[in-house]
Amino acid sequence: MKILVLNCGSSSIKYQLIDMQTENLIAEGIVEKIGEDIALFTYKSTRFTKKKREMVIDNHEQGLQLILEALIDPVTGVLSGLDEIDAVGHRLVHAGEHYSDAVVVTDDVIRVLQECVSLAPLHNPANLIGIEAVKVNMPNCPQCGVFDTAFHQTMPAMAYLYPLPLEFYTNHKIRRYGFHGTSHKYVSLKAADYLKRPVEELKMITCHLGNGASITAIKNGKSVDTSMGFTPLEGLMMGTRCGDIDPAIPIHLQQQLGFTVDEVNTILNKKSGMLGLSHISNDMREIEDEILIKNNPKAIMAMDVYCYRIKKYIGSYFAALNGLDVLVFTGGIGENMSMLREQVCREMEAIGIKLNLEENSKRIDGIQVLSAEDSKVIVLKIPTNEELMIALETESLLRQEK
Ligand code: AMP
Repeated sequence: MKILVLNCGSSSIKYQLIDMQTENLIAEGIVEKIGEDIALFTYKSTRFTKKKREMVIDNHEQGLQLILEALIDPVTGVLSGLDEIDAVGHRLVHAGEHYSDAVVVTDDVIRVLQECVSLAPLHNPANLIGIEAVKVNMPNCPQCGVFDTAFHQTMPAMAYLYPLPLEFYTNHKIRRYGFHGTSHKYVSLKAADYLKRPVEELKMITCHLGNGASITAIKNGKSVDTSMGFTPLEGLMMGTRCGDIDPAIPIHLQQQLGFTVDEVNTILNKKSGMLGLSHISNDMREIEDEILIKNNPKAIMAMDVYCYRIKKYIGSYFAALNGLDVLVFTGGIGENMSMLREQVCREMEAIGIKLNLEENSKRIDGIQVLSAEDSKVIVLKIPTNEELMIALETESLLRQEK
């Protein structure tokens, strides 16, 4: 079985074609800047190395057409025809309180995506356009999807309710939803599989640290709390997002400092976090260089805040779970930045976390045990693979349907 995984953004389509028998990637790429003067199509496959093309691409339908043509190109393609694609699996963003599992895309799912546009105004319309583009280009191909919010639908009310007047939840669905669900689920299953223990018996904390970052408490394989909330702005400090701040600050910025709503939105989402505090970059590689090479005090301070906030979440989720078996690091930063993992796990023996510093400093592909032998908590680095998770869930749905 071959599954095409699509991640449709407002002006881009990322794709991966996966062979489900081997779980290997056959082809991948991205169409960017759709609708702009010049769009960019970058792609590679098992048959050839990376290629970049610039052209005009008016809409997602044309973008997908281009991707499909590249897949069946007689010289560089990897398929003899589009009928070799058994299904499309979409990365979908916001389903509100609907769906805790992967879904076959039906009229109901499309209605839910439309209903939740106000909750994800940038992402849900792009998801809808992507589904439509598949319908036009591959009318007979089944479409499935996994919502970023789905895994966190198991959170209890005490974790998802904000202490606002209750009618904001009952009438307007203002509550905590959580994101990065596919990644948290994938690494939790991988961890259980690696440790040869049933996921239902484990208490885990998974740290997805990329440009966006979130942390999840998982009990018996189910998300019981997560750091992102109504939007991905809540929780950990991120590349450019502030994460948790006093909710009165945006009011103060407007009332006392004269910023407009749009300006406050830009400040909190695009100008804060690592970039805002360090005045250097949102990219941790640059922060790391500034610390190691120049001993830059601003970079050190920003890193201290970043790590301290992760530490505090780990402590609170340890309490929420009443213990901890496994701590997982994943995402571009969690997988690659040993210095950060060391700083987060430093002086955590009281809750059973002790790193093997030598092992932590090694760069090894794949899953790695980072904890010391006498650590009560097993600390793992696990490369995330959201596309594979979506493909696996799509495959499992199709098998159930047959
Ligand atoms: P993601 O959003 O998961 O793709 O992660 C992207 C982020 O990971 C980048 O912005 C970098 O900050 C970080 N990153 C990637 N590679 C490294 C590395 N080798 N060392 C430190 N940080 C890294």
